[in-house]
Amino acid sequence: AKASGRYAMRFFDPAMQEAVTSRLLLEEDICRGLQAEEFIPFLQPQLDESARVIGAEVLARWQHPQRGLLGPGVFIEVAERAGLVEQIDVQMLHQACHQLALWRKSPATASLSLAVNLSARLLYQPDFVDRLLRLLQQSGANPHRLKLELTETMLLDDMPAAIACMHKLRGHGIRFSIDDFGTGYSSLAYLQKLPLDQLKIDQSFVRELSENGNSLAIIKAICALAGSLQLEVIAEGVETDEQHKRLWDVGCRHFQGYLFGRPMSLEKFERLLTTAGAE
Ligand code: C2E
Ligand code: CA
Ligand code: CA
Ligand code: CA
Repeated sequence: AKASGRYAMRFFDPAMQEAVTSRLLLEEDICRGLQAEEFIPFLQPQLDESARVIGAEVLARWQHPQRGLLGPGVFIEVAERAGLVEQIDVQMLHQACHQLALWRKSPATASLSLAVNLSARLLYQPDFVDRLLRLLQQSGANPHRLKLELTETMLLDDMPAAIACMHKLRGHGIRFSIDDFGTGYSSLAYLQKLPLDQLKIDQSFVRELSENGNSLAIIKAICALAGSLQLEVIAEGVETDEQHKRLWDVGCRHFQGYLFGRPMSLEKFERLLTTAGAE
């Protein structure tokens, strides 16, 4: 009787009931939005050592008919829990490949690359490699211009599977970056085993660069590690000249952050290329 009383209370907790209902409504709405192709890529510029825009990270936005433009904070976690995030990733991959194919036609844009975020479950789908290769072929995108961002925690779920998948895709020119690097609390031994191209320094380290001496030490260590493994390093979340300078001083040569550009629509990104003298 005691137990059922507790259950009854939990079930009728109005706040919890409301949270469940709104989550379910959001899930349904995400499904509808996927059908209606309301998820679009925003692009955030990535720069090289000479401050040239060499490409962008694709960040999903939801162009919601009633609520306006929504960021991942509103939908990614719910989409993940509902098993819908893979579909968002696939739609981003489609749009990214379509864009790369268009850019390929002009010498001014042919060398631009796009980095797409992948969720673990998509990477581990048995037919993912074939589907992605088919998408690249059908779209006409240059595989060398596509980068996939993975997090270390997701790679550790099933290392052998991840390695096999990455080897196949890398054989076709696709590159791999570890996102949020340094936040995974994992051993670094796995780095030798993974066929990687880039480490992406997490923005939490960059944010603390000015205040906290430890962050600088960590970033230095990441850059040294990347150097000895012959991996490229990119820092994300660069907001100030001071952060940029400190990153440069420890050997980081690729940058992304509000200092250089916020995530923006494709149209705006293309305008930025023109004004930046890339055309
Ligand atoms: P992330 O992959 O670590 O992306 C970086 C986030 O930092 C982005 O937030 C970006 O807008 C933000 N950011 C960039 N520069 C700065 C800066 O200088 N300062 C600050 N404070 N923030 C900066 P956003 O767009 O809200 O995305 C949040 C997260 O949502 C992403 O983190 C990623 O984990 C996830 N996400 C976004 N798009 C996708 C997608 O298509 N698929 C998957 N699976 N996840 C996605
Ligand atoms: Ca990312
Ligand atoms: Ca990141
Ligand atoms: Ca992140």
